[in-house]
Amino acid sequence: MDQKEIFGDDLFEKELFIQRRTEIKKNVVAEPQHNYDSSNENWNSATNLNELNKIICECQKCPLGATRNKFVFGSGDPNADVMCIGEGPGAEEDAQGLPFVGRAGKLLTDILKAINFSREEVYIANVVKCRPPGNRTPNPVEMDTCMPYLKKQIEIIKPKAILCMGLTASQGILKKRDSLTNMRGKVFDFESGSRTTKVMVTYHPAALLRNPNWKRGCWEDVQNFRKLYDGLKDK
Ligand code: URA
Repeated sequence: MDQKEIFGDDLFEKELFIQRRTEIKKNVVAEPQHNYDSSNENWNSATNLNELNKIICECQKCPLGATRNKFVFGSGDPNADVMCIGEGPGAEEDAQGLPFVGRAGKLLTDILKAINFSREEVYIANVVKCRPPGNRTPNPVEMDTCMPYLKKQIEIIKPKAILCMGLTASQGILKKRDSLTNMRGKVFDFESGSRTTKVMVTYHPAALLRNPNWKRGCWEDVQNFRKLYDGLKDK
Protein backbone atom coordinates (compact mmCIF):
# COMPACT_ATOMS: atom_id res chain seq x y z
CA MET A 1 0.00 0.00 0.00
CA ASP A 2 1.52 3.37 -0.88
CA GLN A 3 0.78 6.83 0.47
CA LYS A 4 -1.60 7.68 -2.37
CA GLU A 5 -3.80 4.71 -1.54
CA ILE A 6 -3.81 5.69 2.10
CA PHE A 7 -4.05 9.45 1.83
CA GLY A 8 -5.86 9.72 -1.52
CA ASP A 9 -4.92 12.22 -4.18
CA ASP A 10 -8.16 13.91 -5.04
CA LEU A 11 -9.24 14.95 -1.60
CA PHE A 12 -7.29 18.06 -1.01
CA GLU A 13 -8.68 20.86 -3.10
CA LYS A 14 -12.02 21.65 -1.50
CA GLU A 15 -13.11 22.91 1.86
CA LEU A 16 -9.95 24.64 2.99
CA PHE A 17 -12.09 27.54 4.03
CA ILE A 18 -14.40 25.26 6.04
CA GLN A 19 -11.37 23.59 7.61
CA ARG A 20 -9.96 26.90 8.86
CA ARG A 21 -13.35 28.03 10.15
CA THR A 22 -13.97 24.75 11.99
CA GLU A 23 -10.51 24.79 13.52
CA ILE A 24 -10.83 28.35 14.70
CA LYS A 25 -14.16 27.51 16.31
CA LYS A 26 -12.97 24.28 17.88
CA ASN A 27 -9.55 25.20 19.06
CA VAL A 28 -10.21 27.82 21.65
CA VAL A 29 -10.11 25.78 24.82
CA ALA A 30 -9.23 27.96 27.73
CA GLU A 31 -10.31 26.17 30.86
CA PRO A 32 -7.72 26.22 33.62
CA GLN A 33 -6.06 22.97 34.63
CA HIS A 34 -6.43 22.10 38.30
CA ASN A 35 -3.10 20.28 38.52
CA TYR A 36 -4.23 17.19 40.32
CA ASP A 37 -1.51 15.96 42.67
CA SER A 38 -1.08 12.19 42.55
CA SER A 39 2.56 12.10 43.58
CA ASN A 40 2.03 9.94 46.65
CA GLU A 41 -0.30 7.33 45.11
CA ASN A 42 1.06 3.78 45.08
CA TRP A 43 1.17 3.34 41.28
CA ASN A 44 4.05 5.86 41.16
CA SER A 45 6.39 3.08 42.25
CA ALA A 46 5.52 0.78 39.29
CA THR A 47 8.61 -0.15 37.31
CA ASN A 48 6.97 -1.66 34.25
CA LEU A 49 3.78 -1.31 32.22
CA ASN A 50 2.14 -4.54 33.40
CA GLU A 51 2.64 -3.58 37.01
CA LEU A 52 1.27 -0.08 36.37
CA ASN A 53 -1.77 -1.43 34.52
CA LYS A 54 -2.53 -3.88 37.31
CA ILE A 55 -2.50 -1.12 39.92
CA ILE A 56 -4.56 1.45 38.01
CA CYS A 57 -6.99 -0.63 35.92
CA GLU A 58 -9.83 -0.34 38.42
CA CYS A 59 -9.42 3.42 38.73
CA GLN A 60 -12.48 5.36 39.87
CA LYS A 61 -10.83 8.72 40.45
CA CYS A 62 -12.97 10.55 37.91
CA PRO A 63 -16.60 10.04 36.81
CA LEU A 64 -15.54 8.18 33.62
CA GLY A 65 -14.71 5.16 35.78
CA ALA A 66 -18.39 4.64 36.55
CA THR A 67 -19.53 4.54 32.93
CA ARG A 68 -16.71 2.67 31.19
CA ASN A 69 -16.89 -0.96 30.18
CA LYS A 70 -13.16 -1.51 29.92
CA PHE A 71 -10.17 0.49 31.06
CA VAL A 72 -8.01 1.16 27.98
CA PHE A 73 -4.45 1.23 29.26
CA GLY A 74 -2.59 1.26 25.92
CA SER A 75 -0.95 -1.27 23.62
CA GLY A 76 2.20 -1.88 21.64
CA ASP A 77 5.89 -2.41 22.21
CA PRO A 78 6.79 -1.60 25.82
CA ASN A 79 10.23 -0.52 24.56
CA ALA A 80 8.90 1.53 21.65
CA ASP A 81 10.90 4.46 20.32
CA VAL A 82 7.67 6.07 19.15
CA MET A 83 4.43 6.72 21.03
CA CYS A 84 1.19 7.80 19.38
CA ILE A 85 -1.26 9.53 21.68
CA GLY A 86 -4.95 10.04 21.09
CA GLU A 87 -7.80 11.57 23.03
CA GLY A 88 -9.73 8.75 24.66
CA PRO A 89 -11.39 5.42 23.93
CA GLY A 90 -14.43 5.27 21.66
CA ALA A 91 -17.16 2.61 21.74
CA GLU A 92 -15.08 -0.13 20.12
CA GLU A 93 -12.07 0.57 22.33
CA ASP A 94 -14.31 0.61 25.41
CA ALA A 95 -15.71 -2.79 24.41
CA GLN A 96 -12.30 -4.38 23.66
CA GLY A 97 -10.09 -2.62 26.21
CA LEU A 98 -7.60 -1.68 23.46
CA PRO A 99 -6.80 1.71 21.92
CA PHE A 100 -7.53 2.62 18.31
CA VAL A 101 -9.24 -0.57 17.22
CA GLY A 102 -12.19 1.04 15.42
CA ARG A 103 -12.27 2.82 12.04
CA ALA A 104 -9.95 5.58 13.20
CA GLY A 105 -7.59 2.90 14.45
CA LYS A 106 -7.46 1.24 11.06
CA LEU A 107 -6.59 4.59 9.52
CA LEU A 108 -3.91 5.12 12.17
CA THR A 109 -2.38 1.74 11.28
CA ASP A 110 -2.31 2.80 7.61
CA ILE A 111 -0.81 6.20 8.41
CA LEU A 112 1.95 4.51 10.39
CA LYS A 113 2.55 2.09 7.53
CA ALA A 114 2.89 5.02 5.13
CA ILE A 115 5.88 6.27 7.14
CA ASN A 116 7.34 2.79 7.60
CA PHE A 117 6.26 2.06 11.13
CA SER A 118 4.31 -1.04 12.00
CA ARG A 119 1.62 -0.76 14.64
CA GLU A 120 3.44 -3.39 16.69
CA GLU A 121 6.65 -1.39 16.95
CA VAL A 122 5.04 1.75 18.37
CA TYR A 123 3.09 2.25 21.59
CA ILE A 124 -0.42 3.66 21.40
CA ALA A 125 -2.22 5.32 24.31
CA ASN A 126 -4.71 8.06 25.10
CA VAL A 127 -4.86 11.07 27.41
CA VAL A 128 -7.86 9.51 29.18
CA LYS A 129 -8.16 5.77 29.72
CA CYS A 130 -11.92 5.49 29.99
CA ARG A 131 -14.51 6.33 27.35
CA PRO A 132 -16.23 9.67 27.76
CA PRO A 133 -19.98 8.97 27.33
CA GLY A 134 -21.18 9.62 23.80
CA ASN A 135 -17.57 10.20 22.70
CA ARG A 136 -17.60 13.72 24.03
CA THR A 137 -14.26 15.47 24.57
CA PRO A 138 -12.85 14.68 28.01
CA ASN A 139 -13.17 17.66 30.33
CA PRO A 140 -10.17 19.33 32.04
CA VAL A 141 -10.75 17.56 35.35
CA GLU A 142 -10.89 14.13 33.66
CA MET A 143 -7.76 14.93 31.66
CA ASP A 144 -5.87 16.26 34.64
CA THR A 145 -6.81 13.25 36.74
CA CYS A 146 -5.69 10.78 34.07
CA MET A 147 -2.59 12.55 32.68
CA PRO A 148 -0.26 11.38 35.47
CA TYR A 149 -0.86 7.77 34.31
CA LEU A 150 0.14 8.67 30.76
CA LYS A 151 3.20 10.53 32.04
CA LYS A 152 4.19 7.44 33.99
CA GLN A 153 3.77 5.32 30.85
CA ILE A 154 6.04 7.74 28.97
CA GLU A 155 8.56 7.55 31.82
CA ILE A 156 8.60 3.73 31.66
CA ILE A 157 8.63 3.40 27.86
CA LYS A 158 11.16 6.20 27.27
CA PRO A 159 10.20 6.86 23.65
CA LYS A 160 12.43 9.03 21.49
CA ALA A 161 9.47 10.80 19.89
CA ILE A 162 5.76 11.26 20.51
CA LEU A 163 3.09 11.95 17.92
CA CYS A 164 -0.02 13.62 19.37
CA MET A 165 -3.15 13.11 17.34
CA GLY A 166 -5.74 15.85 17.53
CA LEU A 167 -6.21 18.96 19.59
CA THR A 168 -7.12 17.30 22.89
CA ALA A 169 -4.05 15.07 22.97
CA SER A 170 -1.80 17.90 21.80
CA GLN A 171 -3.06 20.38 24.38
CA GLY A 172 -3.01 17.70 27.09
CA ILE A 173 0.60 16.66 26.47
CA LEU A 174 1.98 20.09 25.70
CA LYS A 175 -0.08 21.96 28.30
CA LYS A 176 -0.77 24.58 25.67
CA ARG A 177 -4.00 26.24 24.72
CA ASP A 178 -2.84 26.87 21.20
CA SER A 179 -4.71 25.78 18.08
CA LEU A 180 -3.76 22.65 16.18
CA THR A 181 -2.96 24.87 13.21
CA ASN A 182 -0.34 26.73 15.25
CA MET A 183 1.13 23.59 16.78
CA ARG A 184 1.43 21.58 13.55
CA GLY A 185 4.83 21.57 11.88
CA LYS A 186 6.71 22.44 15.09
CA VAL A 187 8.84 20.26 17.34
CA PHE A 188 8.18 20.53 21.08
CA ASP A 189 9.91 19.14 24.16
CA PHE A 190 8.04 17.00 26.67
CA GLU A 191 9.90 16.99 29.98
CA SER A 192 9.47 14.15 32.44
CA GLY A 193 11.93 13.63 35.26
CA SER A 194 15.36 14.09 33.75
CA ARG A 195 14.28 13.11 30.23
CA THR A 196 13.17 15.23 27.31
CA THR A 197 11.12 13.68 24.52
CA LYS A 198 10.47 15.34 21.19
CA VAL A 199 6.80 15.86 20.33
CA MET A 200 5.00 16.68 17.10
CA VAL A 201 1.27 16.98 16.49
CA THR A 202 -1.13 16.14 13.69
CA TYR A 203 -4.81 15.67 13.04
CA HIS A 204 -6.76 12.96 14.81
CA PRO A 205 -7.52 10.02 12.47
CA ALA A 206 -11.24 10.32 13.28
CA ALA A 207 -11.09 13.95 12.08
CA LEU A 208 -9.53 12.73 8.84
CA LEU A 209 -12.42 10.33 8.34
CA ARG A 210 -14.82 13.25 8.66
CA ASN A 211 -12.68 15.70 6.68
CA PRO A 212 -10.63 13.80 4.09
CA ASN A 213 -9.24 17.06 2.70
CA TRP A 214 -7.11 17.30 5.88
CA LYS A 215 -5.23 14.18 4.83
CA ARG A 216 -2.71 16.15 2.82
CA GLY A 217 -1.73 18.14 5.93
CA CYS A 218 -1.52 14.94 7.94
CA TRP A 219 0.71 13.39 5.29
CA GLU A 220 3.05 16.38 5.55
CA ASP A 221 3.02 16.19 9.35
CA VAL A 222 3.81 12.50 9.53
CA GLN A 223 6.60 12.76 6.98
CA ASN A 224 8.12 15.50 9.16
CA PHE A 225 7.62 13.26 12.18
CA ARG A 226 9.44 10.42 10.41
CA LYS A 227 12.32 12.78 9.57
CA LEU A 228 12.49 13.91 13.18
CA TYR A 229 12.57 10.29 14.34
CA ASP A 230 15.25 9.32 11.77
CA GLY A 231 17.41 12.15 13.08
CA LEU A 232 16.97 10.92 16.66
CA LYS A 233 17.11 7.18 16.29
CA ASP A 234 20.86 6.68 16.53
CA LYS A 235 21.28 9.15 19.37
N1 URA B 1 -9.93 7.84 19.34
C1 URA B 1 -8.99 8.06 20.29
O1 URA B 1 -8.61 9.20 20.55
N2 URA B 1 -8.49 7.02 20.91
C2 URA B 1 -8.84 5.77 20.67
O2 URA B 1 -8.31 4.86 21.30
C3 URA B 1 -9.82 5.56 19.67
C4 URA B 1 -10.35 6.62 19.02
